[in-house]
Amino acid sequence: MKLMFVGPPGAGKGTQAAVVSEKHGIPHISTGDMLREEIKNGTQLGTKAKSYIDAGDLVPDDVIIGMVQQRISRPDAQKGFILDGFPRTVVQAEALEGIVKLDKVFNIDADDEALVRRICGRRICKDCGAIFQAAQLDSSQSCLKCGGQMRIREDDNEETVRQRLKVYKQKTKPLIDFYDERGLLYNVVSESIEDTTKEIMDVLSKME
Ligand code: ADP
Ligand code: ZN
Repeated sequence: MKLMFVGPPGAGKGTQAAVVSEKHGIPHISTGDMLREEIKNGTQLGTKAKSYIDAGDLVPDDVIIGMVQQRISRPDAQKGFILDGFPRTVVQAEALEGIVKLDKVFNIDADDEALVRRICGRRICKDCGAIFQAAQLDSSQSCLKCGGQMRIREDDNEETVRQRLKVYKQKTKPLIDFYDERGLLYNVVSESIEDTTKEIMDVLSKME
């Protein structure tokens, strides 16, 4: 199954993608994670991407498209994948159409203030990458999955978040109509993380 999750930052795309990836045994392809890995490894691509990410802007389309094209050509992605954070512009969506055909696009949304609150409270495990809310953790603030130390993502500060939301509305939101016109869109109506997972799993079980 070739799936894509679209929605504003903080909507829970990554969290849902991780669950679906595990249940269905298909890779979770997050362009944000891939870019952060490039930055960590000090690659040329990473160096180029960093200034855009820190400002809350989008990394140029050609850089992203090349990176995704390579990733989805790998053997583990042949029977399916979950795209999280890509495409993010109409240009990227058109390029993707030329490479592969998606089976379903899930639109996950939430209101702006909830998104800002969630992103500012987001903590990520240094060891296993699990994502939790600071309020879910105990005083030791260690990972609920592996006990590792939790950290805050560099671009998860209020100023950058507001910019990311603005960019989402201008550049990514048009993709909702783009995929609706192609009959691929499913709008998630659930609000909690658990209900959203159930709703997505339900749709997927009817597709098989
Ligand atoms: P979030 O959805 O929480 O904003 P991501 O981890 O998906 O975060 O992305 C972080 C940043 O990486 C974005 O703000 C953007 O700068 C860059 N990025 C990720 N995916 C793309 C993409 N498809 N096109 C352009 N830039 C991207
Ligand atoms: Zn962990």
